[in-house]
Amino acid sequence: MVQSIIVVGAGIIGAATALQLAKAGHAVTVVQAGGADATSASFGWINASFFLNEDHHLLRAEGIAAWHRVLQDVPAPVDWQGCLCWDMSPDVMQATYTQLRAFDYPVEIRTKEQIRVLEPALCNAPDQALFFPTEGAASSADLTRHFLRAAQARGAKLIRNLFVLGLKSRNGRVMGIETSQGDLDADQVVIVAGTGTTAIARTIDCEIPLVPRPAYILRTSPQKKVLHHILATPHGEIRQEPSGQILMPVAVGHQGDTAEELTQTPTAAADDTIARLRNVFGGLENADWTEVTRAERPMPQDGLPIVGPIADGAYVAVLHSGITLGPIIAELVAKDITGQLDNTDAAMLAPYRPDRFADK
Ligand SMILES: Cc1cc2nc3c(=O)[nH]c(=O)nc-3n(C[C@H](O)[C@H](O)[C@H](O)COP(=O)(O)OP(=O)(O)OC[C@H]3O[C@@H](n4cnc5c(N)ncnc54)[C@H](O)[C@@H]3O)c2cc1C
Repeated sequence: MVQSIIVVGAGIIGAATALQLAKAGHAVTVVQAGGADATSASFGWINASFFLNEDHHLLRAEGIAAWHRVLQDVPAPVDWQGCLCWDMSPDVMQATYTQLRAFDYPVEIRTKEQIRVLEPALCNAPDQALFFPTEGAASSADLTRHFLRAAQARGAKLIRNLFVLGLKSRNGRVMGIETSQGDLDADQVVIVAGTGTTAIARTIDCEIPLVPRPAYILRTSPQKKVLHHILATPHGEIRQEPSGQILMPVAVGHQGDTAEELTQTPTAAADDTIARLRNVFGGLENADWTEVTRAERPMPQDGLPIVGPIADGAYVAVLHSGITLGPIIAELVAKDITGQLDNTDAAMLAPYRPDRFADK
């Protein structure tokens, strides 16, 4: 059944979801407050080598598959360059290799000599590294633009710079949203508002527990091409965009970072991080950071995505690793809203339902 659906949020999750809903023929309106978001500050790595448990790995591996499906509709700039990873001890590396092989995930061990060939500008190649050949990265600021354009080409409407105050409900059914410019009605509201999700859900007494996860990420000015893969090193994660800019989150191992506050000023953090970068690569002695961005990552309390209905007429999807998971979550949300999940889809979403936090 065709529905009128308001999507609150136009980060990667909102934009990807709007596209899938518009493709399914629904009348979609995306409402976006503007201001800081996580997507445009992201490192943009699409991977399933980071995971919290087997279900989470499988969802992320499906996330990579969903990227290839959505790229047939949207010309988003994803570079499937693969990742070289040595940000772990030899024991952990061996265990990670064994575990990922058991999951049937593409992973190979590369020797020092092979790493030197793959990344000739590295100052000190490690003795060995894991190579994840199917992983990619995207210029995340561009992604929402591509998804939103594709959704709009299929009839979706976009309202920018409008803050959603809360949900409008009657007799327990959500009927739309309240905004500073009046109410908007819809059959369904999909709240994909990143860290803004909790406040919106609270207006119908639903608790969506997120934890504070602030982050800095820096960019250099365009450099000549020195880097050919995504690198996860003991000095931090690094990748180079087609523009030549090098990106580096300040937190080493940023996907598993659990710091609740940033203790350094942006300039001190960026200065330290650029010094680490210069130590990793030859030819970057004069490279400096030109931009550092502070962002709040949408991080559910247990680290796992929160995806599902929270009331009749209201649905939530909030998660970290939204670049990896955006397309698969969008596909699942679009099916779930209209009761079209098959058994495999339902099993994939089962660990992430919002009601796991009820009464806690
Ligand atoms: C430094 C950093 C590095 C990261 N690296 C990676 C990575 O390598 N790989 C990966 O997969 N993930 C990574 N992430 C995580 C990823 O970026 C996020 O999971 C993802 O961007 C979340 O997308 P989102 O659409 O849920 O939220 P956001 O991008 O935050 O978008 C939220 C949207 O909701 C809107 N909004 C909020 N409140 C309201 C309101 N009240 N009314 C109307 N609109 C509202 C905002 O305007 C915005 O449009 C990283 C994040 C950071 C910060």
